[in-house]
Amino acid sequence: MKLSLSNGIFKKLGLEGNFAAIKKLGFENIEFNMKTIKKEHDTDVYCAQKWLATCGLKCLTVHSATLHLKDPIEVHKAVYYGKISLECARALSVSVVTVHSDIAKKLPPNLRERCLHEVFNVEIKPFAKKLGIKLALENLSYTSTGFGKNVEQIEQVLNVIDKNGEMGITIDLCHALETRQTDSLLEKYGRRVCNVHMANKAHKPFTEPKKELTKFLGCMHDYGYEGPITLELAHDTSMEDIAKSKALFDRLLAEY
Ligand SMILES: [Zn+2]
Repeated sequence: MKLSLSNGIFKKLGLEGNFAAIKKLGFENIEFNMKTIKKEHDTDVYCAQKWLATCGLKCLTVHSATLHLKDPIEVHKAVYYGKISLECARALSVSVVTVHSDIAKKLPPNLRERCLHEVFNVEIKPFAKKLGIKLALENLSYTSTGFGKNVEQIEQVLNVIDKNGEMGITIDLCHALETRQTDSLLEKYGRRVCNVHMANKAHKPFTEPKKELTKFLGCMHDYGYEGPITLELAHDTSMEDIAKSKALFDRLLAEY
């Protein structure tokens, strides 16, 4: 398993400062979160390309720009967010993109199915396939406006957009702990995981080897998982706590 840091935590620093801060903390890998590129500033990805090369960081995954659509009229916007995220992943030579269902949990079920079909089956999936990029659907928390917080809801999404069972899964441990879904998500999707978002509840950093953490890592190891463990931390996390969390994971991951 490879330790990585979501660069969303330093989104206010601008891309150059963002990567410099990550490098200074000693990380080698990042997840590029699309919220670090301002809306309509899509060509900024070329700056990201340049700064990544300059500081020698490796980008393992991209977190898609997300829109939890509340009405079918927003389908085009969700498609644009998805496609530009895939374009950025291509520019950064990344082959796994984490996505949300893009559906607001308030959207009625009949419209949910229609919007999922139009966004994913018609547009985003064929585009990802053309670029050779794997999509990895993330489990959400109960606090999210989006649909897909537990196995039941994720199955409803996958039944529409993933009839062939090709889609990957991003397990977000923070969301799984908050919704108390860790065991059921692991049991159902453990073998399909291609990205892990790692944090304690409320996106607080783990700084000690808590039982729920070591159990989770052991379980992922048993499933043969070798992909990213992406620290996805709240914006107000101190540099000291990020460093502590990194030290903990350097130690824990060395065991696998
Ligand atoms: Zn996440």
